[in-house]
Amino acid sequence: MDISVVIPLYNEAESLPELFSWIERVMDEHHFTYEIIFVDDGSTDDSWKIIEGFKQRSACVHGIRFRRNYGKSPGLHCGFQRAQGDVVITMDADLQDSPDEIPELYRMIKEDGYDLVSGWKKKRYDPLSKTIPTKLFNATARKISGIHNLHDFNCGLKAYKNIVVKNIEVYNDMHRYIPYLAKIAGFNKIGEKVVHHQARKYGKTKFGLDRFVNGYLDLITLWFTSKFGKKPMHFFGLWGSVMFFLSFLSLVAVLTAKLFSLWAGSPRPLVASSPFFYIALTGMIVGTQLFLAGFIGELISRNSPNRNNYKIADEI
Ligand code: UDP
Ligand code: MG
Repeated sequence: MDISVVIPLYNEAESLPELFSWIERVMDEHHFTYEIIFVDDGSTDDSWKIIEGFKQRSACVHGIRFRRNYGKSPGLHCGFQRAQGDVVITMDADLQDSPDEIPELYRMIKEDGYDLVSGWKKKRYDPLSKTIPTKLFNATARKISGIHNLHDFNCGLKAYKNIVVKNIEVYNDMHRYIPYLAKIAGFNKIGEKVVHHQARKYGKTKFGLDRFVNGYLDLITLWFTSKFGKKPMHFFGLWGSVMFFLSFLSLVAVLTAKLFSLWAGSPRPLVASSPFFYIALTGMIVGTQLFLAGFIGELISRNSPNRNNYKIADEI
C-alpha cells in the first residue's frame, strides 16, 4: 500500500464529508493505493456516525473511536500503530490543511529519501494571538532540538516513512515535537515543504492559550528525557557537585576570616554574620538534595521497562 492518511479529530462533523471526498479525489487522480484512518478522539457530535457512513462507502476507510477525549497525540499514536502504507501522512480534520499536498509529500519521501517531511504554513490564516507566540515557540524548538531547517514544528500536515511512525511514541501533547521525537529515535533526514493553509471553515480551535505554557513545558521534558533520561545522575550529580564546591569555597572563606580575626586579635564577628556562612549552608543542603534526586532518578531509570530499548537500524 502506498499511503496511510491518519486524521485525528475531535468534534469535526461539519468538515468531515468535504475532507473525505477531497482526499478520495486526490488519491484516485494519482492512482495511489491508500487507507484513511480516522481517529475519533471522543467526539460528542456526529463525527463517528459520519465515519461509519464513510466505511460503508469505501473499504479504504478505517476508524478508531476513543471512549473519551484524550488529546491529539494519543490519537496520532493509535493511528500510527495501525498504519500500513509505505508513506504515512497526517493531517488535521478541520480543512486547514489541503489534501492537494499529498502527492508531492509522497514524492519527497519516496524519491528524495526523507524520513520525515513537515509542512510549513508559510502564509498562515490564524489570528495574530496565535501566529506571534508560534514564531517564538518555533525558534526555541529549533534551538533545543538542533533541527535548524524547520520553521513550523507543529504543522498538522506531515509525511513519514512507515518505519519512522513505528519507532516514535507520541504521548501527552508531544505532537508538537514529532520531528524532535524522530530525531531522538535516530531519523535525521528531516525536510520541509511549504504548504497551503486556510482559515478554519467550521467549528473552532480545540487548543486554548494554555498551549504555549504546555508547549514549553513539554519541550523541556523532552530535552531532559532525551539527554539524561537514561543517566539522570549525570545531570543532578554535576549540579550537586557544583553546589558542594561553592559551599566548600564559602566555608573556607568563613573559616579563614574567623581564624584571621583570632590571629590579629581584632574584634571577632560571629561566623553567622558572614554572607558566606549562608552560602555554605544552602549549598550543602541543595547539593545533598540534588544528589538524592540523582540517585532516585537512577533507581527509576534502572527499573523502567524500556531501559534496554535501543533502536536497531540493521542486523546481518
Ligand atoms: N484534535 C483532537 N483531539 C483534541 C484536540 C484536537 O483530535 O483533543 C484534532 C482536531 O480535531 C483537529 C486537529 O487535532 O483535527 C488540530 O486541532 P485544531 O484545528 O483545533 O488546532 P489548531 O489548528 O488550532 O492548532
Ligand atoms: Mg486547525
